[in-house]
Amino acid sequence: MSEAKIIDGKRIAEEFRAEVKQECAAFTAKTSITPRIVFLLVGNNPASELYVKNKGVQATDAGFSNETIRLPESISEADLLAEVEKINNDPETHALLVQLPLPKHINEGLVIDTIAPEKDVDGLNPFNAGRLMIGRGDYFAPCTPAGVVEMLHRQGIDVSGKHVVVVGRSNLVGKPLGLLFVQKAPKANAVVTIAHTGAGSRLGEITKQADILVAAVGVPKVITAEMVKEGVVVVDVGINRIDDATRKSGYRTVGDVDFDNVKLKASAITPVPGGVGPMTIAMLLKNTLEAAKRSVQTS
Ligand code: NAP
Repeated sequence: MSEAKIIDGKRIAEEFRAEVKQECAAFTAKTSITPRIVFLLVGNNPASELYVKNKGVQATDAGFSNETIRLPESISEADLLAEVEKINNDPETHALLVQLPLPKHINEGLVIDTIAPEKDVDGLNPFNAGRLMIGRGDYFAPCTPAGVVEMLHRQGIDVSGKHVVVVGRSNLVGKPLGLLFVQKAPKANAVVTIAHTGAGSRLGEITKQADILVAAVGVPKVITAEMVKEGVVVVDVGINRIDDATRKSGYRTVGDVDFDNVKLKASAITPVPGGVGPMTIAMLLKNTLEAAKRSVQTS
């Protein structure tokens, strides 16, 4: 039994970001426009703070203008919607990312609905979700699933005709990923199954059919070696913290896949960290550049 090839998402994302940086410089040289993204950060959730900080650092590094607008946890829904509208109407800003989750008193759906579709670079607005569903090219797909598709493509893994099983049906990851893979399009054309808690005790029977298995569950090591077939390609989207007394922080980050055992059966597998995560930010930059390009075409 040979061990799986490790899919180095960090390296792939670095290459991808370098290309976006070059493309951004060429666009700015030609148009005198610097693509600009605004991050709306509500409250003080430490994980959200870190995600937004990383996105800002990488946006700056790639030559994008960016700003993080910090709003208090206590902000009213009406005031937050007004902030979104302000950015929608700012011609200098091409992209808006509202960092989720939002405080409980705010209707997240309403905020997402309010983001202008042409600035909705995380592809959550129903307009973009609908266009993804019908396979129109001019949508923004959520960055994490789009990053998964790009990563497999760059790794030389052809998904066409393969049976892809996605575990998880969130609007952010599982569902859009299934829709991306099923498109009759380059980098796609897979046969797709989306599994979830409704699979119950049949989950392993379903995941075992996968040529390519994607876990987007949010449960540490829920995908075990018994649930996969020999030679499967495994993509682990999960980011979970588990206690680890040997670490200074007291925790470590693991995925949804029992990596150490599954890698003995898989042909290729993504690690956590260093797999899907870095691709998400790279895709966000790509979408922001695309939003800036489209703004020139439509003005
Ligand atoms: P989510 O909204 O909580 O969705 C989780 C999905 O998994 C749900 O559809 C749920 O099914 C399903 N599920 C949960 N337990 C299950 C089980 N035991 N068996 C089968 N299905 C199960 O989470 P998400 O936003 O999609 O995120 C998933 C994971 O990816 C999390 O760990 C998150 O931190 C991570 N993530 C990573 C990135 C990145 O950049 N790498 C980005 C986003 C998310 P039901 O619908 O039936 O409840």
